[in-house]
Amino acid sequence: MAPACHATKPVDSDSLMKWTCVGSGGFGCVYKARHKQWGFDVAVKLLHDDVGNVMPKDAALLQEISHMEKVSCEFVLRVYGTFEGVLPFRGISIERGIVMEFMSRGSVQTLLQDLHGHPPWPLTFRLANQVVLGMNFLHSRKIIHQDLKPSNVLLNDDLHAKLADFGLSRISTSASSCKTTVKVGGSRKYMPPEAFEVSYEPVRAFDIYSYAILLWSLLTGKEPYPLADNSLVALQIPLGQRPSYKDINQEEVEGLKELVDLMKTCWDGNPLKRPNSRECLNVTEDVYSKHRKDIHAAIKHVLTQLESNMSTHNTSGDESNKTQGRMSLNETVNASRIAQAEA
Ligand code: ATP
Repeated sequence: MAPACHATKPVDSDSLMKWTCVGSGGFGCVYKARHKQWGFDVAVKLLHDDVGNVMPKDAALLQEISHMEKVSCEFVLRVYGTFEGVLPFRGISIERGIVMEFMSRGSVQTLLQDLHGHPPWPLTFRLANQVVLGMNFLHSRKIIHQDLKPSNVLLNDDLHAKLADFGLSRISTSASSCKTTVKVGGSRKYMPPEAFEVSYEPVRAFDIYSYAILLWSLLTGKEPYPLADNSLVALQIPLGQRPSYKDINQEEVEGLKELVDLMKTCWDGNPLKRPNSRECLNVTEDVYSKHRKDIHAAIKHVLTQLESNMSTHNTSGDESNKTQGRMSLNETVNASRIAQAEA
């Protein structure tokens, strides 16, 4: 029986139809599905532990999700509740997950890959600002995201950004009864040096550091340290290693130098020297305000480019791409799952 902290009934598989896999990450697959009664698409993130087992139904998990449901902000992804049921295409075992707002344009990670670089500057600056708006809101509610990275910044139809997955790092570790509160894995490149210490307790400066690396990705359009594995990252970051910014031409566009300066203070090895999220917001708002007038042209340009990528995929004859043209990152992983999900 669900504990009292979780007021709403879980969404079950009978309420959902037209399942399509739209991505996969550390917890397993993320599906798009149409809620029959609500009449709109939702995203369902199934929760699996490190070895692929379905998350047990425990109070901590339900409580964490009920916290997420209460967070309401334009720049933070909406969580509608939990999912519990048997997936129509996956057999007989009960799956658990989170039902969230569906974001049709994927993530900043897929955007950077689809564009083969950073977006036009006005959009880059708006995204840099909206991530801080979301982070600042969470911090004002005493919530530390703990997993800020391009794949956790999701994009709606108009390429507005919302932060996803806050609190999920705590869920993942509570389920595997691991002592540390930090999730290991692909996110290490976004973890501050102090988080590699065994007795580390996350504070807001954790997110500020992650934001710096995310900002670097946004400004360069690249993945940080592409050749380094997790153990090398864990070794080098505490020694002061950071992504190189020598290829960023800081004079190229007004405001770029200010963002590079912000990035450098945010990734300071000493967490006490990093600015807080409100101070970051002062900078990102100011930079974006200088380019706001050009945002519509930038969005139009990017949407045209994404549509043209999609039609190129479509003419290649791959049926999976017809469903998920934007998902270049996950295409290979998805192809078989989409077919399976739609069967
Ligand atoms: P990790 O689980 O290690 O944090 P991740 O963030 O890449 O990695 P997921 O959060 O499972 O993994 O998401 C995988 C992909 O699924 C995202 O990059 C995004 O493209 C897609 N996705 C996730 N949530 C949604 C959503 N609400 N709406 C649309 N697409 C989503």
